[in-house]
Amino acid sequence: MGNKYEFWFVVGSQHLYGPSVLEEVANHSKIMTDEFNKSRNIPFNVCFKGVVTTTDEITSLLTKANNTSNCAGVITWMHTFSPSKMWIRGLDLLEKPYLHITTQYNREIPYELIDMNFMNTNQSAHGDREHGFISARLRKKRKIISGFWEDETMRCRIGDWMRSAVGAVFSRQVKVMRLGDNMRYVAVTEGDKIQAEKKLGWSVNSYGVGSFANMVKKVTNEQLVAKMREYREKYIIDTTNLESIEYQATLEVALEEMIVDGGFHAYTNSFEDLYELDQLPGLASQNIMSKGIGFGAEGDWKTAALESIMSEMSKGLTKGLSFIEDYTYNFKKDNESILGAHMLEVSPAIAIDKPKIQVHDLSIGGRKAPARLVFKAKTGNAILVTIIDMGGRFRMIVHDITAITPEHDMPNLPVAYAMWKPMPDMNTGNEAWIRCGGTHHSVISYDLTAQHMKDFAEIMGIECIHINKKTTIDELKMTLAMGDLIYK
Ligand code: MN
Repeated sequence: MGNKYEFWFVVGSQHLYGPSVLEEVANHSKIMTDEFNKSRNIPFNVCFKGVVTTTDEITSLLTKANNTSNCAGVITWMHTFSPSKMWIRGLDLLEKPYLHITTQYNREIPYELIDMNFMNTNQSAHGDREHGFISARLRKKRKIISGFWEDETMRCRIGDWMRSAVGAVFSRQVKVMRLGDNMRYVAVTEGDKIQAEKKLGWSVNSYGVGSFANMVKKVTNEQLVAKMREYREKYIIDTTNLESIEYQATLEVALEEMIVDGGFHAYTNSFEDLYELDQLPGLASQNIMSKGIGFGAEGDWKTAALESIMSEMSKGLTKGLSFIEDYTYNFKKDNESILGAHMLEVSPAIAIDKPKIQVHDLSIGGRKAPARLVFKAKTGNAILVTIIDMGGRFRMIVHDITAITPEHDMPNLPVAYAMWKPMPDMNTGNEAWIRCGGTHHSVISYDLTAQHMKDFAEIMGIECIHINKKTTIDELKMTLAMGDLIYK
């Protein structure tokens, strides 16, 4: 999977040590690059871009990184000492995600052999501090990871950061197709689309539901047959109402055409604005979501864009993510939990087993009964993520949760669902999320962690609140108050 994005490995040094030391530094860097690329914990290709020793070289390389579309980030390391005034121009211009690794080619000090020559060649502790200063002085957004480069724990952290960096680079090109506006009178799905494009790179634009309805009419029988075959292969058909499934199939074919034609990464619709459509897309949206397209119901373009980004960040991971909504509390004593679902649209990517296609009435929207996928979601550690518009700034909220198996089946529930326990406990978790202004809509991911999202938010320069097992309301209040000062 590593071909689409690459990370540039740039090693700093200077001419003071003579050509043979620079050669040794380059050789070590090449060995490290090869070993990184063999590690299963490093999901993207690392490209060694040379040992840099002058201001012009550094400026030219880092501006080239900016202009190389598949370069998702720059990783720097100082094998020796690289005077950091050489880095000012280049780092100041650098727009790509930036990771400074602090490591050393030799694991241990060779006590018997170490002399001045060895120390001059292996002085990362020295060089990395000089490099760290200039990034701090420039107020450069960056990640710093220290560890021994052969250890998989360090490589895991590099790999995790790479996913955040990919999210950031992907975010800057996200295009969202909106079919209809937001659900009337709903506040949390609103937001400043100009600021979203400036800050997060999202191009969010509206397209007529009428033109979508016209596309639906043009779906050919051949396309319909192919889509029905896809449904039969992936899902269990648990209804005799094939007409409803076929209608969803035509909706999906038309949606896919619009998404591909427009180069979109995410889309929204609204049950209040269906024009000539007979059904709200249910199965259609669910199946599209499972292919990595972001979705937001009721015009929720922020969650749609976020889902597409988290999907890109999760490439190669298998536990899945989905659009989800907090629905119903279960206040059973000592076993409290939250039931998450949506009126239709939960992605089968998080299904615990093969989803069933069923047809049920939808009590709102006033259209025909839509076919939808019904299933239980996976269990285990997961996160809920949302982005809200605070007016003047965006706030990301990440909540650590544990998805659980419900105590009993819910045979009358006609939708896909997940059940979870919020951290640190039911009441603190709810109070924290609600105090932050967290949405009812969010993205649930079983693969990504809060660290992935925090690093993403830092690269994008947006506020990020992490509700976790240590969260207290007093501390959260302080963090939110500080955010109001920092993000003015
Ligand atoms: Mn909703």
